[in-house]
Amino acid sequence: MEKGKAMERGKRILVVGGVAGGASCAARVRRLSEAAEIIIFDRGPYVSFANCGLPYYVGDVIREEKELLVASAELFKERFNIEVRTESEVLAIDRENREIEVRDSRASRVYREAYDALVLAPGASPVRPPLPGVELPGVFVLRTIPDSRRIREWILSRNARRAVVVGGGLVGLEMAENLVERGLSVTVVEKLEQVLPPLDPEMAVLVKERLASRGVSVRLGDGVASFEGNRDGSLLIRTESGAAEPADLVILAIGVKPEVSLAKAAGLELGGRGGIRVNEAMQTSDPRIWAVGDAVEVRDFITGAWSLIALAGPANRQGRLAADSILGREVSFRGVQATGVCGLFGLTIAFTGANEKTLGVAGVTSYETIYLHPGHHAGYYPGAKPIHLKLVFSTDDGRVLGAQAVGEEGVDKRIDVIAMAIQKHATVFDLAEAELCYAPQFGAAKDPVNVAGMIATNVLRQDLPLVSWRALPGTEALVVDVRERAVFSGGHIEGAVNLPLTELRARMGELPRDREIWVCCSVGQRAYFATRALLQNGFDVRNLSGGFQTYRTFFPSPT
Ligand code: FAD
Repeated sequence: MEKGKAMERGKRILVVGGVAGGASCAARVRRLSEAAEIIIFDRGPYVSFANCGLPYYVGDVIREEKELLVASAELFKERFNIEVRTESEVLAIDRENREIEVRDSRASRVYREAYDALVLAPGASPVRPPLPGVELPGVFVLRTIPDSRRIREWILSRNARRAVVVGGGLVGLEMAENLVERGLSVTVVEKLEQVLPPLDPEMAVLVKERLASRGVSVRLGDGVASFEGNRDGSLLIRTESGAAEPADLVILAIGVKPEVSLAKAAGLELGGRGGIRVNEAMQTSDPRIWAVGDAVEVRDFITGAWSLIALAGPANRQGRLAADSILGREVSFRGVQATGVCGLFGLTIAFTGANEKTLGVAGVTSYETIYLHPGHHAGYYPGAKPIHLKLVFSTDDGRVLGAQAVGEEGVDKRIDVIAMAIQKHATVFDLAEAELCYAPQFGAAKDPVNVAGMIATNVLRQDLPLVSWRALPGTEALVVDVRERAVFSGGHIEGAVNLPLTELRARMGELPRDREIWVCCSVGQRAYFATRALLQNGFDVRNLSGGFQTYRTFFPSPT
């Protein structure tokens, strides 16, 4: 309201779904308009609860259910003058009359409400594949507080000892960790050949190793075929490969699908991926209806393709933008980078932007990748832990396209820096120049982000010709390992010759000039020094990207 002006009748804004996207939108509307009438409808018993905390409530890390309630209906009323109606399912949208139909489950009645603007934030529902036995007691999905309460009660009442988690994505792995922490033995069954699909396969190997080290059995490349109930109430999970896994409970975590039934029935445009189609202001094909969160399709920031993304950050930001748009402000959602993070048995796994798989699907070929394994802070300060970092960048202009990192410390802050760089269309030259905070216990004078940028710029400037470990089998090149003799004899690639960096200049004459030379070491640094020396002496040389640390992720020993 402008100064000195009496408050006019505000818009009547109805919000369907009162968690991440819906609650953010409603609260933002109030901050922009005291006059607006705002009502949130949620079919569940709560609004604004922490879905992201649910695995940790199952794991008893979060002890009290009430800790999951970020804001209550009372708080919305008192603090924001927003009315919240829980256990109120919106059944239909009458676009012509600008009304919705609501079922009040408590009073068992159906009524209508008129709107000036309608916001759809219904989220996504967990996929329950139509497999035999999927409805058996003991087979759970996790989306709501009541879901998590049911799983907790089942574990306690059945004294559950064994669990099968179907799906090795973020939620599946968080559940695996929490069930292990509760003392259950856990098997993860994943149809893909890797866990955590946002990672490229060689990075996911590090995650699988951590799972194995904590006793989690991981069955990759195998889908669930059926669930059978035993007389004692336990379950038998049969897989497509014919294996049988006994369990006391099953968690289905094979992904979510956008809740679009309301939008579809109302004739709103849907996209090819099955989500609600919105423009950059989060407006649907009906200019009086906005949609946000897991239910909508948005543009991928890197490839420009329509994508579905089920993450809390985009849902919250979109809710805020929709509110601005409803109240007449110019807004434009930038798209999603799929920046995410996962904690797993002391390991942090984080990612942002495109990986090689998404670039492949989008048909992008003009990119390069590098691997590095720096400490999370200066090596001379006690306790440095390695970060395994993969950077993906454009070979056309050096633009940063994506990054993935795995380690015990300092992973999330590096990926956050790179995420912001991507959003600002930064290049690897920018990463090399980034001025980041440093003291020995926090980082390094050349931070891992700088080092990633420096290696990538070396590649672009042809100072460091790379070759991937993928090219190793059957190569005609001579592999030269420049680690010290003792390290080399502790294990090396078959057929590699050992020429320690310290002896390289004196013994360079032993190397062939008519054959490609591929240089390797532990993490890639000595090999880089060797590559530079050999290049300047006229050899045809390449650096095996990321050193032995990366080699073992391409050719892992079975775990
Ligand atoms: P939601 O938050 O799901 O809210 C939708 C609401 O709409 C629900 O309460 C639903 O009951 C209600 N609703 C649906 N249809 C109707 C209707 N017709 N009438 C009335 N109400 C309706 N994201 C992260 O970024 N990081 C994480 O660590 C993370 N962890 C997660 C862990 C779990 C176990 C789960 C389930 C999700 C996690 N997510 C995480 C994803 C994140 O929670 C979602 O992306 C985010 O909540 C989506 O917000 P939304 O507003 O679109 O939908």
